[in-house]
Amino acid sequence: MKKIGILGGMSSASTSEYYKIINKEVQEKLGGHHTPELLIYSVNFEVISECITNDHWNDAGLYLAKRAKSLELAGADAIALATNTMHKVRHQILSEINIPLIDIIDSISSKIQSDNKNKIAILGTYPTMTDPFYKEAYGQNDIELLAPKEHAKIEINRIIFEELTFNTIKDDSKTFFIQVLEDLFQNGAEGVILGCTELKLILQQTDFEKLSFYDSLHLHCEKIVEVACST
Ligand code: GLU
Repeated sequence: MKKIGILGGMSSASTSEYYKIINKEVQEKLGGHHTPELLIYSVNFEVISECITNDHWNDAGLYLAKRAKSLELAGADAIALATNTMHKVRHQILSEINIPLIDIIDSISSKIQSDNKNKIAILGTYPTMTDPFYKEAYGQNDIELLAPKEHAKIEINRIIFEELTFNTIKDDSKTFFIQVLEDLFQNGAEGVILGCTELKLILQQTDFEKLSFYDSLHLHCEKIVEVACST
């Protein structure tokens, strides 16, 4: 089996989900007491959220690249960056390491492509819903992103940083998300990317059946399991 390095803590609420899901899926796949060898580098999320708020992407990239390198030096065969937002600096991480990065955008895109869909709504942090980086990265996979209206983007970003990253789940926020999904469905979306690794804490497919859900955390974990179980 391959040893996977997870660059997590963005936030800790979602990294603990990665740990649970990856272990469960490897156990189901291989049986017995098989569990993957994982190296988790959980970063200080205050550093990352400060960089996002102040648009200090280069600093965030340097901070993450250094930690990715230490996962490689500790023996990781591949690395997973357990957040959508920070994939914006994936080039800085890739330039520092000599092992593969299990890319969250690729993991999500392959599932959407295999479902033959292309106009897909995206929910995530404000940068994930607005920055041209994500539009281009998904666009390269023939996926056209449909973002919520501006006021909704601001509220979604607030819910992520003030509630979900603290593992706080509120009924009002869930109701708000469902209204946003209805709006995106009316605007022609064929599915929705839960493009933030904390969103699964508040939204499940059964909450809104009109759109197919593409949960970034789950699809990323599936890919990580595939790599972990490869020889
Ligand atoms: N976990 C989130 C994501 O998937 C947001 C936190 C972060 O900024 O990294 O984008």
